[in-house]
Amino acid sequence: MVGAGHNGLVCACYLARAGLDVEVVERDTVLGGAVSTIERWPGVQVDRGSTLHVMVRHTGIIEELQLEDVGLSYVDTDPWAVSFHEGAALRFTTGLERTWQSIDEVCGRHDADAYVQFVERWTPRMQAMLASFDRAPTVWGLTRSFWPLGRRVRSGGGELAREFLTSADHVLDECFTDDRLKTALAWWSAQAGAVPHEVGTAPMLATAVLMHLRAPGRPRGGSGALTRALVRRLEQLGGVVRAGDGAELISSGSVTTRSGERIDARAVVSATHVLTTLDLLGRHDEAERARLRVGNGLGMVLRVLTDALPAYTCAVDGMHTGMQMLAGSRDQIRRAHAEFLAGGAPAAPPLLVMTPTATDDSLAPPDRHVVTVWTQWQPRQLRRGSWDDIRDEQTQLLINGVDRAAPGFASSVQATHLQTPADLEHEMDLRSGNVMHLDMTLDSMFALRPLPEWSRHRGPDGVYLCGASTHPGGGVSGASGRTAAEVVLRDLRRRRRA
Ligand SMILES: Cc1cc2nc3c(=O)[nH]c(=O)nc-3n(C[C@H](O)[C@H](O)[C@H](O)COP(=O)(O)OP(=O)(O)OC[C@H]3O[C@@H](n4cnc5c(N)ncnc54)[C@H](O)[C@@H]3O)c2cc1C
Repeated sequence: MVGAGHNGLVCACYLARAGLDVEVVERDTVLGGAVSTIERWPGVQVDRGSTLHVMVRHTGIIEELQLEDVGLSYVDTDPWAVSFHEGAALRFTTGLERTWQSIDEVCGRHDADAYVQFVERWTPRMQAMLASFDRAPTVWGLTRSFWPLGRRVRSGGGELAREFLTSADHVLDECFTDDRLKTALAWWSAQAGAVPHEVGTAPMLATAVLMHLRAPGRPRGGSGALTRALVRRLEQLGGVVRAGDGAELISSGSVTTRSGERIDARAVVSATHVLTTLDLLGRHDEAERARLRVGNGLGMVLRVLTDALPAYTCAVDGMHTGMQMLAGSRDQIRRAHAEFLAGGAPAAPPLLVMTPTATDDSLAPPDRHVVTVWTQWQPRQLRRGSWDDIRDEQTQLLINGVDRAAPGFASSVQATHLQTPADLEHEMDLRSGNVMHLDMTLDSMFALRPLPEWSRHRGPDGVYLCGASTHPGGGVSGASGRTAAEVVLRDLRRRRRA
């Protein structure tokens, strides 16, 4: 296994559970890739990448690998989001009834009812999507996943196809009237990177439905607690993890590490970014690389150590539990994306704040808080200058953005750590700063991810692939790791029989 991101570790666990000898090589001394937590300041644990776990809680992987027995426990984040607007806050809870109440209070009965209808309409569709995420994206796999949905459709598939393929913005305008609700949901739908007016983003919007099926969560001890549990389980199953000695060269039958050791293997799985896999295979065909939608960055994050939680002017119950969404309008979202397309850092980007220390006292001393400020869209390659040139001004911009919604925030700041797209690339090998590895756009999903010929986890030159570069894409899920393990085991059984 090349790469100890969470997908690689999930794959390694399933392979070891099936009785194989598994060795994981990781170039970093920190395991978990973008699912890791480190002591960023003395006594303060801070995530390096992800914070909120949504998808993995729907896969069943945590239960199948019995990760709770090796120390993993989650804090449910319910309410999962609060969206702050002038004079009002919209509160999204897992219980649909309470979400209905909040929308009714702020936006009125029409939108509250429309939200419930939206959730009810998209729930079976999301369940079909979830089923498709747990399988290789073959024609048969996709048919099996979406078949139950097709049977419910009486009017042929036309209307269903339209609703899947349309933009998030179009669905919002079709269903709702209040701009604050539309903005909150548009900002949520943008979290995988695709902009809400783009064709095919309606399902991204509908991922809100998942939060009503099960609350998203944060592992106690930080996002990296998932990685620690996976490593512990893998070691119990006889697997080995080698940190700080990554692969330098790979083939279908061996991995040579940086220290020069050669490990022969019946199967090699690469769980790195697909561009890294190509580097390790010595494939430097520019035309092949150009087909991959690596993009030009996606977002960046400011980690702030404070002596208080942000005191939002529109205080509501549980506002520090989940995502705190600071987007004033859909125009603000569109402008940020437009500036990104033109190669600039947005002047007034929408923000998504999280405060993990509010619900987990193991992360920092009692009088300290970690405030995570995520923002989009930030280009890896700026039209002018470098990220280091604007590091201080960007840090201040994000602090001021939170301070506008929560006056006094700026004076609570004790220390900051900005992770620009360039930093994300250098620290975690997130090429081009894309936290999803490849763009999560329709032309790069399912059987098209990373490219049509490698989409079934059988990659170039006989090497297997998993991770965010493969179906079902980025985010904390583990699904590609489990599916890749199934493919490897099937192929090894076939080879033995032949
Ligand atoms: C700042 C940030 C915030 C995020 N927030 C969220 C969130 O809240 N919720 C969510 O669901 N998702 C979030 N994400 C996205 C999510 O974390 C990632 O998409 C996901 O973790 C990718 O996992 P992976 O296992 O596929 O790959 P990665 O985590 O990219 O792991 C790949 C591994 O391969 C290793 N590697 C590279 N080269 C070599 C080599 N030569 N030899 C050996 N190993 C090598 C890397 O060091 C790395 O450990 C966030 C990401 C970032 C960066």
